[in-house]
Amino acid sequence: MSGSDDLFERAKRTIPGGVNSPVRAFGAVGGTPRFAVKGDGAYLEDADGNRYVDLCQSWGALLFGHGRKEIVDAAAEAAGRGTSFGVPTEGEVLLAERIVAMVPSVDQVRLVSSGTEAAMSAIRLARGATGEDAIVKLEGCYHGHSDALLARAGSGLATFGIPRTPGVTAGAARDTFVAPFNDLDAVASLLEANAVAALIVEPVPANMGVVPPDPGYLEGLRRLCDEHDALLIFDEVITGFRIAPGGAQERFDVIPDLTVLGKVMGGGFPCAAFGGRRDLMEQLAPAGPVYQAGTLSGNPVAVAAGLATLDLIDREDPYATLEETAEDLEAGLALAFETNGIDATINRAGSMLSVFFREGPVRNFRDASEADHERFARFFHHLLNEGVYLPPSGYELWTLGTAFGDTEREAVLGAASRFTG
Ligand code: PMP
Repeated sequence: MSGSDDLFERAKRTIPGGVNSPVRAFGAVGGTPRFAVKGDGAYLEDADGNRYVDLCQSWGALLFGHGRKEIVDAAAEAAGRGTSFGVPTEGEVLLAERIVAMVPSVDQVRLVSSGTEAAMSAIRLARGATGEDAIVKLEGCYHGHSDALLARAGSGLATFGIPRTPGVTAGAARDTFVAPFNDLDAVASLLEANAVAALIVEPVPANMGVVPPDPGYLEGLRRLCDEHDALLIFDEVITGFRIAPGGAQERFDVIPDLTVLGKVMGGGFPCAAFGGRRDLMEQLAPAGPVYQAGTLSGNPVAVAAGLATLDLIDREDPYATLEETAEDLEAGLALAFETNGIDATINRAGSMLSVFFREGPVRNFRDASEADHERFARFFHHLLNEGVYLPPSGYELWTLGTAFGDTEREAVLGAASRFTG
């Protein structure tokens, strides 16, 4: 078995940049990406036999840790009956019923295979339903890599400092207005000056690092959208099933028109969804005229893993424990940084958190980008050497799952307390 260095050298010959998604390449922190061979609960094992406490957890997709038995068993059992049919299955009905029961805004839901596809399709539906072309997004929020949604996005674009990307047409860019997050006046001005199909937002952005909404901000977006006949879309790809069973809309009690879901709901498999008000969702083909489709949509293996995940949520109701664990981790990190004289702001919502090396508050993308990202790179490598794997960018979130316990917390805090700058 080759180690990570060898594999990365080989990968770069046949895969652009050696990776299948840019942030994996360690571009922001330097060094060689670790190639995974195994995950086990809170731990990740690499191709050189190193074991890490994993705070990336497949970018938030794993609420119950790596290789959770019930999820793996459900997927294996489904795969044994067939990996793809291209005809409907009972599992899809069960998963749709479960999502409708859990997520307040969702009367109907369509399954797709990635968050990108879900967000892109929700935008098309909003345009089809309203007859308007323009959309509003918030700076630093990431909604996947479809053309309309790449303007001043977070995640990999923020990590690599890419304000816009070649290949997005001038028309797509022209139809996307961008406002700073946590600034209602900026949104009001855009909505007053332009007819807009929808405003899309991560209710708790996590792709510029975690940036919680100011009190009243989400309510303000709801009111402004209503006043200007724009649809409100919550992208809950990260927050969905993570910060409450019904996501941020349940936690903050603000109900969007459409919701985009992914990550946790697939239990680590390619499964995502968009859903919302019945009158809007019924505009989708074949019920209505707005076209959207997918060969692998509702894939039986992914659906079985998703159902097993939502079953575990029902059975274990993990949110209070996750909140407590994350709170302890946050407090311990704050103490470690303070003891070592390091300026840091920790933003947290439930089991999602981010460390920004700067004084607070961090309320928007500009604040996040003014953090000391070189210090983050040093911190990342310090932790990596001590057996803790963080997402390799200061613009990404750390996520905790139920597999993260006292031992793992002590390992992370011990390593953080030895970081001196
Ligand atoms: N929306 C949000 C909020 C995301 O965080 C992501 C991915 N990190 C996406 C959409 C895109 O999802 P995917 O990578 O599955 O296409």
